[in-house]
Amino acid sequence: MDSEYKTGKDIFDCQQCGDCCNGFGGTYVTQQDILNISTYIHFDPDKFISRYCDTSGSRHVLTRGADGYCIFFDKARQCTIHPVKPYMCKAWPFIQTVILHPENWNIMANSCPGMKKDIPHKALIDILTIERNKLEP
Ligand code: SF4
Ligand code: SF4
Repeated sequence: MDSEYKTGKDIFDCQQCGDCCNGFGGTYVTQQDILNISTYIHFDPDKFISRYCDTSGSRHVLTRGADGYCIFFDKARQCTIHPVKPYMCKAWPFIQTVILHPENWNIMANSCPGMKKDIPHKALIDILTIERNKLEP
């Protein structure tokens, strides 16, 4: 029997709660993310890392405000850089690790109220593959 779950919308509907913009170990930014965001906010990309990033290992992550939220989060407006938010934020929750480890989906769903739990593995992998193909590299 075909699964009732066919597309990303069947298993994920963001509730705009903002929880994923608070903590979560950091939002990694690529060089392309830095260029995109800098252009959007009219900021010098060469100064972006020192102004808006912390380091996590060898990678750059968006810094957080005193309230723990991402520096680009606003309680009223949510993500203030939504059109150019980092790849990591655009991809959520259709991330590579779930294809490799589908059991991670339910664990992630514990902290994201937009994710439905207990999706059959085949449907989950099929949907993730479709949704990831829609994302820009
Ligand atoms: S935690 Fe999930 S539901 Fe809440 S804003 Fe983030 S993606 Fe949306
Ligand atoms: S860039 Fe936007 S979506 Fe990503 S963590 Fe920051 S506020 Fe949230």
